[in-house]
Amino acid sequence: MVTAAVPNELNVYESAEARFEVAAKKLGLAEGLYRYLRYPNKEITIYIPVGMDDGRLEVFTGYRVQHSVVRGPGKGGIRFAPNVTLDEVRALASWMTWKCAVVNIPFGGAKGGIICDPEKLSMGELERITRRYTAELSEWIGPERDVPAPDLGTNEQIMAWVMDTYSMHVRHTVTAVVTGKPLDLGGSRGRREATGRGVMIVCDKALEKLGMKREGCRVIVQGFGNVGSMGAMLMAQAGYKIVGAADIHGGLYNEKGFDVPQLIDWVHHQHKALPEFPAGGTKVPAEEILFHPCDIAIPAAVENQITSQNAYRFQARILCEGANGPTTPPADDILRKKDVFIIPDILANAGGVTVSYFEWVQDRQGFFWRESEVNERLQDVMVHSFEGVVHYAETHGVNNRIAAYMLAIDRVAFALKLRGIYA
Ligand code: NAD
Repeated sequence: MVTAAVPNELNVYESAEARFEVAAKKLGLAEGLYRYLRYPNKEITIYIPVGMDDGRLEVFTGYRVQHSVVRGPGKGGIRFAPNVTLDEVRALASWMTWKCAVVNIPFGGAKGGIICDPEKLSMGELERITRRYTAELSEWIGPERDVPAPDLGTNEQIMAWVMDTYSMHVRHTVTAVVTGKPLDLGGSRGRREATGRGVMIVCDKALEKLGMKREGCRVIVQGFGNVGSMGAMLMAQAGYKIVGAADIHGGLYNEKGFDVPQLIDWVHHQHKALPEFPAGGTKVPAEEILFHPCDIAIPAAVENQITSQNAYRFQARILCEGANGPTTPPADDILRKKDVFIIPDILANAGGVTVSYFEWVQDRQGFFWRESEVNERLQDVMVHSFEGVVHYAETHGVNNRIAAYMLAIDRVAFALKLRGIYA
């Protein structure tokens, strides 16, 4: 087995490149194509002046990286977080290219980010940052160019501001410029739950493959935002037992299982810290929760949670990556030796971009689907993609992660060959 070597384990761009390199070598990708697909198409840095509530003028740094538009418009979220870096946005943009190709939807890959702490900003400040960022990007985004979506620290309201700002610039309402919008502004039914639902679908498939059962299957979720809380809720409804959960404030482990709707109410409606949940269990640091006893561990927060320093303590049979980049390449090697079944991020969390694609289609049609129709189509895409990746891994003798990359790179390279290079 070829392993992905990284000089700096915690640099996500190096991790993304290392995996790309292993998969490209295995595929025997021609040198020119390798160089073309390795680098992003475009990187934009924006300095965003914002009048703060206290009268100060602050300048925030934002990025948009378009990795590939070979298979269609760029697609990828906008992240608001204090530790956003250009390298991180580059890595996330390339993962979007591979993710869209794994689930075979007609998008390329892009990602955006602004260095800011959304928890410390007022609604007015958030709105002004979002609008100026969108205005600066208005030439580069659009339904046919690059279609943003929510990511860490951004939500439906922020997408509504992106849509409105872009629409004001082009002088008519363009709902398809962004996905993850509120339902009343061209959002899709089922989008809010989509990434968590996709996570559940691939977990179901993994259980089937490994001869395990849903009932009583112990699950730990790290991150209790959109992906983590929706995933936990749907999985609890389906019979899984959620025994661990964590957010940025810390985690709880309870082998009897949580009442997930109550936990969601505590965190999202009462706005209380997750570890203080009264019907909770043992308090655990957020970074430790994934290493407690369970059958499925779902990182759904940030990158680099499973590393060479802690992977040897991992106990789950299945690792389902709700977050992007939660596992480093050296950790992959350790988990492989422990025979952990990995559902890699570019497959596991692709339910979000799949329903974003449905949202874009519905916006362009001006015709909206029932929720059952959205969920049914999502189920088809996720099941088909899971089976495709696992089959590819088995027939090519590689692990699921490298199989997903190989499948994706092959699809993008094929489209590129058909298009040719414009001189
Ligand atoms: P979110 O902002 O809704 O929630 C993030 C959650 O993670 C919060 O509960 C937060 O408290 C927690 N968190 C943040 N830092 C943490 C830390 N260091 N330790 C433990 N918990 C921490 O974000 P989200 O949309 O749920 O995204 C989560 C992950 O899933 C990200 O990696 C994102 O890129 C990925 N993802 C999201 C979507 C989507 O549709 N939202 C789609 C694909 C992938």
